Amino acid sequence: MNDALNVANSEPPSTRSEVIQEDEPPPSPAVLHQFNEARPPFLLNAKKLARMSPASRAYKRAFHKETTDREWNDWHWQVKNRLRSLEHIEKVIELSPDERAAIEQGGSMLPIGITPYYMSLLSRLNARQGLRRTVIPSLQEFVRLPGEADDPLAEDSHSPVPGIVHRYPDRILFLVLDYCTTYCRYCTRSRVVGHGEITASSARLEQALDYIRRTPTIRDVLLSGGDPLSLKDEKLDWILTKLREIPHVEFVRIGTKMPAVLPQRITPELIKMLKKHHPLWMSVHFLHPDECTPEAFRACSKLADAGIPLGCQTVLLKGVNDDVETMKSLMHKLLLMRVRPYYLYQCDPISGSAHFRTTVQKGLEIIQGLRGHTTGYAVPQYVIDAPGGGGKIPLQPEYLVGREGDHLVLKNFEGKTFHYPDPVVPERPPVAAEAETNGYSRRSALRTLREAPEDLLSNQGHLCHSG
Ligand code: SF4
Repeated sequence: MNDALNVANSEPPSTRSEVIQEDEPPPSPAVLHQFNEARPPFLLNAKKLARMSPASRAYKRAFHKETTDREWNDWHWQVKNRLRSLEHIEKVIELSPDERAAIEQGGSMLPIGITPYYMSLLSRLNARQGLRRTVIPSLQEFVRLPGEADDPLAEDSHSPVPGIVHRYPDRILFLVLDYCTTYCRYCTRSRVVGHGEITASSARLEQALDYIRRTPTIRDVLLSGGDPLSLKDEKLDWILTKLREIPHVEFVRIGTKMPAVLPQRITPELIKMLKKHHPLWMSVHFLHPDECTPEAFRACSKLADAGIPLGCQTVLLKGVNDDVETMKSLMHKLLLMRVRPYYLYQCDPISGSAHFRTTVQKGLEIIQGLRGHTTGYAVPQYVIDAPGGGGKIPLQPEYLVGREGDHLVLKNFEGKTFHYPDPVVPERPPVAAEAETNGYSRRSALRTLREAPEDLLSNQGHLCHSG
């Protein structure tokens, strides 16, 4: 039995027509314009939100006229109608020569997969649109620069059993399958996702669970893949139940991009199942404000209402979200969706990723443009996942300028300079040290210390509200 949702759509991608019937007339220019230009409004009340954003409605009208709203909002329909081949994609967007050549030459590299919902958010004409670049291949994926690698984080060499990456002492990555409904061109795990080699077979999962059972240092398990929410509810329920039976596993997280690429997946049945396994956290993956649609808002609201804390992991991508205004807009919308910006990742140097990677300086500028200029909760931690498996290394702009005597020199978010009293505390209290130097006994030195004037004693350390 196939436990993923892709029952009718097993990888690698077929060339079967799934989207447009051959005899369907082409959409009118007016409809195409609407699809291309529509930008979903952002509303705050989930209950009042339209079930479909204007962009999705325009797309459905253009390319799935016969499909009912009910079918469109059913994730099974979305999965079954994913766009996976040149033939299908060029019927809904105008491909650039570069995109067309990349799809034709794609071969066995990272497969293509885009849900109709996510496709509705892409520009039909503009190949430079940020979201479009993240899911439509480019010939630049075939250019491998020095320092790039298929497995830059050395996950394979930190894998004690198939499906487990054990890098930090107390936590692991549990790769439950390699399937995603929508494939990101910058995926760190593009060497494995979509290739159908990591399956959610019970035997494979049991082997991984067994490793967790016999490793008592593991207190935190992050389910990842592929996308764990691609599994059927029953299979995910089974995995979570098994994990909850292990006494030393305290903390379980699910890493998923579903709220962004297939928000229809967040069904009442899924929510009901997830609620059985608290405390459960979720790391969602949004990278651009255009992903924050009414559908995504509704999906995140359901998860948050179920008591699942949501943190967002965003990858910094050149030409997609590498400017302060785009990033700030994304972070604000995440907060409105009750998602806490968690990490901003420097893009990993996977093979063929140079066109997505910014300089680290650019990332620092973005953090500087957020810190102090907006809500602290809206500022994620900027990190580099160290090549070779060194783990996440935090990066932040330099706010500590230096030291002037007993003062630290600091720079605030406006670039203004401030001094903070931070006296250099000697290893031993000066009065006691001086007493010993002069031949006094330890007892008399302490008496001297007790009798010392208050302003001198105040130099011995901080005995304030935190003391
Ligand atoms: S959803 Fe995650 S695992 Fe899947 S392709 Fe995108 S980044 Fe990779």
